[in-house]
Amino acid sequence: MKLLGGLQPSAVVQGAVLGYPSPIAAGQPHLMVGDPGRCPGDASLTIAIFDDSGSVAGPAGSDPVSNRYAEARAAFDALARRCRCGQCHAAVLHFDLVGGAGPLPLKRRVPGSLSQALTIPPDACGCSLLGPSLAAASRIVEGAPSARDLALVVFSDFQLFDADLERVLADMADFPGEVQAVALGANPDIGGLDPGITVTRLTANDPPGALGRALLRSLAHGRPGARIPPDPSGMAL
Ligand SMILES: [Zn+2]
Repeated sequence: MKLLGGLQPSAVVQGAVLGYPSPIAAGQPHLMVGDPGRCPGDASLTIAIFDDSGSVAGPAGSDPVSNRYAEARAAFDALARRCRCGQCHAAVLHFDLVGGAGPLPLKRRVPGSLSQALTIPPDACGCSLLGPSLAAASRIVEGAPSARDLALVVFSDFQLFDADLERVLADMADFPGEVQAVALGANPDIGGLDPGITVTRLTANDPPGALGRALLRSLAHGRPGARIPPDPSGMAL
């Protein structure tokens, strides 16, 4: 296993990104997600939105044990370990608009509230609407005028039930920064996504860390020296 930047410990990680038999708990070996490089000097903000609906998180869903959250945490950890500027911010939102956190700086460590937001909220209903969290992301951006490098990452199977889905997907494409759709499961419904959106498809067959690397590619956008291993379904950086 190749070490990247001397920062990522080599570790044996079992299981797959999705469909892993048990979540990777805190304290277990770091997932190999890569090196996000150096802080660019400008303020940045990455907003991650998570779909906790039954088709993703249910017993027969595309990520029934919520390993996506352990992988997302690994990506945030990787950036935090490299941030010295205090201007690299992240926010976490859920489709249900409960249990979110941020934006907060990721300097040296992931803030506790942001880390705690990386789980299925206990009071989540599992709605399949993207519109409300997308609107919340827009409000966060409006409240962070100094953030020059913006990124949005939506983790979903895109089996969405928004009343005006076409409008919602247009709004997603109009986000004023890089937009990545991480399409979960074997049958994501990504036909309506704008071609300007980067689509990363992940299934149970992808290697451990693929979801974390997908998030880290957005977190590391514009960062000099970023080195993130390629995945079959994702682009290298
Ligand atoms: Zn930084």
